[in-house]
Order: sequence, then structure tokens, then C-alpha cells
Amino acid sequence: MSRVPLQQQQSCGSWELKERLGTGGFGNVTRWQNKDTEEQIAIKQCRQELSERNRERWCLEIQIMKRLDHVNVVAAREVPEGLQSSLRINDLPLLAMEYCQGGDLRKYLNLLENCCGMREGSILILLRDISSALTYLHKKRIIHRDLKPENIVLQQGEKRLIHKIIDLGYAKELDQNSLCTSFVGTLQYLAPELLERQKYTVTVDYWSFGTLVFECITGFRPFLPTWQPVPWHSKLKLKQDHDIVVYEDLTGEVRFSKHLPQPNNLNTLLLGRLESWLQLMLRWSPQERGKADPQTTSSDCFSQLETILELKLVHVLNMVSAKIFTYSVSANESVADLQQRIGSDTNIPPANQELLLEAGLALEPQGEAGQCIDGRRTDLPLVFLFDRSSCTYEPQFTPRTMPENIQTDPKHVLSYSPLRRTWGQAWDTIRTLKEDWQRLQQGQKAALMSLLRHNSSLSKQKNEMVSMNQRLTAKLDFFSTSLHIDMDKYQEQRATGIGREGDRAGRGDDAPPDRHCGPPETTVEETRSINASNQFHTGS
Ligand code: ATP
Ligand code: MG
Repeated sequence: MSRVPLQQQQSCGSWELKERLGTGGFGNVTRWQNKDTEEQIAIKQCRQELSERNRERWCLEIQIMKRLDHVNVVAAREVPEGLQSSLRINDLPLLAMEYCQGGDLRKYLNLLENCCGMREGSILILLRDISSALTYLHKKRIIHRDLKPENIVLQQGEKRLIHKIIDLGYAKELDQNSLCTSFVGTLQYLAPELLERQKYTVTVDYWSFGTLVFECITGFRPFLPTWQPVPWHSKLKLKQDHDIVVYEDLTGEVRFSKHLPQPNNLNTLLLGRLESWLQLMLRWSPQERGKADPQTTSSDCFSQLETILELKLVHVLNMVSAKIFTYSVSANESVADLQQRIGSDTNIPPANQELLLEAGLALEPQGEAGQCIDGRRTDLPLVFLFDRSSCTYEPQFTPRTMPENIQTDPKHVLSYSPLRRTWGQAWDTIRTLKEDWQRLQQGQKAALMSLLRHNSSLSKQKNEMVSMNQRLTAKLDFFSTSLHIDMDKYQEQRATGIGREGDRAGRGDDAPPDRHCGPPETTVEETRSINASNQFHTGS
């Protein structure tokens, strides 16, 4: 929702009105700032007279908000003194809330970068936050009934974005009027039983959550997004349990599918898991919705989601084929185990696999496979796979499949698909190609770093060998010089016989050192000085 700056600044004590955040069925939401403390709050005020029933709902929302305390549900605040009386246009109370500066999820989805679905990391955070908020609300026996991107706001936390549910207002009891008026344009997230005015339970929130998650993954709503409620309902009734998307193809024919459409930003492993999860969330029958299949161990959609969110994933980029393989690894799995799995996917035997981390560090087979997972990162940390047996890397890349809208004749596409979608897909295709290329470049950089590492350890080894060689040469010199001296001495003694002690003393000779006991660690300088003294001695 675009932010409308207010023409007239209003204030109340130290609180100043800054901007309008949104306008809904009954109320306005505005941002206020305290000029002394800089604290900011959002105030929701009713802007019209309400029927008795709607007045009750309004008050109920405020009551509910005040007793909730969960990080993913927007927190109620005290209404600043004086504001209640100065803003009120009827006797309905104001709702003061913590202000979330990231805007709502609709605004986030409207960003160009999210036109073909949000990033995998952002989707996982959203799943975690909203499932946690819904579990909390359902435990408190509260059904939201109006979950949609406009009713989720974002706040920058210390480490990551936090999603918070807002607007627990008028969706608690739906009547025919509210369906026809206030809900126009938002019907897409409503469970069929609400449209049919049937009895409903918490599973209405499952439908809305599933629809919302589908939109976050693909960039569009799953079920005939442009259709009117009546034909929409009768067509959708025909969907099978496992169908998670109903769409018009480029010829205008309605198609059903149980798969998440491309393009999207999910890795292959998550894609399959979330597909099955959405198949539970988007079941037509409210009784069956959210219940896991009897074969699976997790009993319901939330525990199944928990299992998906706890997966430890390793993404391996095969530098030969440019394909990314994703593996879920267990706590004590070794790199060698992982290499076996990589081997069967890539046909590169473990002995030929060189696995490098981004900084060029090689993974050792005895190490833990989990070391390549960086839980703090929301992007895709990669392990680069090289084939040791090949020296040249001939390009063997299979180009990505282009989205349907891009492949088809533009005139034909534009008559069936909105321009924005085609344009978004073109933009996304270019971005994806750029990222593929960047990843390969990252891999090359890792290889370069690894070679530099090898090079510096080889230079170190070379220097050690040079100095060892010098030491050994010096020792060799020392011993051969000693040997020569001894040989000369023996020759001399053989010729002249062994002289008396007194003769030597008389000639002022120094006895040569015991050359065979030369210290094993004699340094080059020591050896040289010993040799010099020996030479002097021999020469005399
Ligand atoms: P109702 O349907 O009860 O009339 P509404 O839809 O007008 O309510 P909300 O959904 O509560 O009212 O809020 C409208 C918009 O205001 C939201 O979509 C969001 O963009 C913005 N907004 C609401 N609360 C906050 C908040 N606490 N922080 C930031 N923005 C908010
Ligand atoms: Mg709303």
C-alpha cells in the first residue's frame, strides 16, 4: 500500500501525526511520533458511524489485541493521553499498536525483484513467522479469518525481518454484506466454506495461509486470480485434492496442476516438500485440509512445516554442468557420505570430487557435512564441485528453460497474459542468468583461492627443503673436511711414526677437535668457522 503523506500536520501534546499508513473498511491507520522520546506508534481509528454489530467487532479487536503477546502478532500499546478524545469522531476507542516500519507484505510483493516470487530465504522466514503466529492464535481459540498480504506487516529486527499479523478486526464474523463490499478484491484468500457461508473452523486460516505462501513463492495467486466469485467457485470445485494451481493457459483454457509452477526461487528439494505441504493447505474440504497423509509421520500441516524448516540443506554447484544439487544432511553425516550421494547424482566418483567452500577451503572426507551450512545466511551458501580427473572444463551447460511467456510470440502472449507478468518474467529471466553466471564466477574464484593456498603451502615446503639442504650440505662439508684432515694425519703418521706429546707441544700445535663428534645440528656459520680452522691447521 502506498504511503500517503498528510497535508495537515496534527499534534496532540508531544505526539505528532506523521503519515497515513492505510485505509480499510472502517478505519484509518496513521503513524504518530513522540517528539521528546522519538517513539513511534500506529493508531487505528474508526472513520465512520458503525452498526451495532460492527461496533462490537471493533471493540472486540481491541480487546483481543490487548491480551495477545507474541513476537509475530503486532503488539497493542497504550493510547497516548489526550489522543483518545481529540481523534475520536464517535465513541469508539482507538487502537494503538507498535509501528512496523517495513510496510505490509503486499508492498514487498509488489517490488520488481519479487515479481516471480520472493527469495528462498525470505520465504522460509515468512513461513516460520506466520506459522508460529497462527499456531499461537489457534491455541488461544482465535481464528484470524482475513489473512492476506495486506494484513502482514514487516519490522526490521536485530538480525532479520520479522513478520507480524495485524487486523484481527472485522473478519471474525462474515455476513453477506461484508463479503460483497469490504471483501471485494480480497476474496482470493478466503476459504470456500466462508464464501458458501458454511460452518468453519481454524482450517479457514490454513487456506488463506496456503494461498499467501503460493503467491510468495510464484508471484501470483494460485486460483484463477482474475475471475469473479461465482464462476470462480464453480470452476474451483472441480479441482482434485492434490491440485494447488488452477490457471488459464495461453489459449485461454483452464488447467489444473499439482505442481508449483516455474519460474520460482526454490531449490529442488524444498520445491517438492512445499508442494506436498501446499497440497494439504489448499484442500477444498475443510475437514481434510491441513491433515497430513496417514503415510507421513507428522500429524498435521504445522508439524510437517516444522520438519521442512528444520532441514539442514547443503547446496552443491557442479562446476562441470552448472547444476545445483541440494541435499538434506543429518547431524552426524560425514563429507564422505555426502560424496557418495553426489557421486550417484553427477557420475563423478568420490575420489575425483574436489569440494570447495567459497573461500577456497577444501572439504575433507572425514569432516562433518554440516560444516558447509551457515544458519545465519539467508542467501544460498554453495559448495563448489570440481572433477579432479578433468583438466579442462568444456562447457556442458544445458540452458535454462525460458518461461512460457518469453518463448511464445509476443503478440500472442500479450493478448492472454497481463503485460506486467510478461515484463516481470523477462526481467526475472535476465536476473537468473546473471546470477547463474555470478555463481560460476564465484566457483572459479574458490578454485583460484584453493590454488593460491596450495601454492603458498608448496612455497613454504620448498623454503623448508632449501634450508634443510643447506644444513645437510654444511654437515657434509664438515665431515668430508674432517675426513681429509684425518686421512692426511694418518698418512703423515704412517710416514713419520706417532710423535711424542712433547714434540707437538714444542711445535705449538693445537690438537684438532674430535671431528667425528661434530654436533648434528651444527649451523652453516659454525661449520664454516670449524672448516676454516681445520684448513688453517692442515695448511700449517
Ligand atoms: P479494517 O479491515 O478493520 O477496516 P484495515 O484493513 O483498514 O482494517 P489494518 O489492516 O489494520 O486496517 O491496517 C491497514 C494498513 O495499515 C495495513 O495494510 C498496513 O499497511 C498499515 N498498518 C496497519 N497497522 C500497522 C502497523 N502497526 N505498522 C505499520 N503499518 C500498519
Ligand atoms: Mg487490513
